[in-house]
Amino acid sequence: MQIREDSFKGDRPPCPKRGPNCKNKPHCNGHYLRYANPDESEPSLKMFCFWCVPCRVSISVIPVNHLPYWSIEVDPLAQYFDLQSSGDIDSLDFSQNTLLRAKGAWKRFCSRSSQFVQILGQLIAPLTPSIPDIWMSISRLEKSFSALLNRLAYDYRISLLGDYPRLFGSILPT
Ligand SMILES: [Zn+2]
Repeated sequence: MQIREDSFKGDRPPCPKRGPNCKNKPHCNGHYLRYANPDESEPSLKMFCFWCVPCRVSISVIPVNHLPYWSIEVDPLAQYFDLQSSGDIDSLDFSQNTLLRAKGAWKRFCSRSSQFVQILGQLIAPLTPSIPDIWMSISRLEKSFSALLNRLAYDYRISLLGDYPRLFGSILPT
């Protein structure tokens, strides 16, 4: 299970399971490397892993500027989404690899648009929103993209790109 670094305070993530003998003190048992962005030739991003012994749960911590399972950083993704919505996508100066990931992420977001409308309801304007309308309404919820990811996950129990089950295991829906 993965959790975002800015979604908890202190030096270790909380145990998501909290079983009968859990003291809520998962210990760090190392790290693995992941691609920080699609242009890296070798993975360089350290993902620290924690283990709760009584619950037998492993937790990986995702650094603030990154997404679970997507090797694109948060800033270019936010920029791409904003430009997709404002119709000025040609002004982007992304590498081919970053552009491919951003396009894939946008496609995923589009496929989830009706879920956002259902969950966020009146927060999304107008009444029959286009996908850019949906994104613009969602993006206004928080000042930073990272804060937005946390807000969606913890307040609305939905992830931007459908990674919620992988973020939270089977504990919570969608
Ligand atoms: Zn535990």
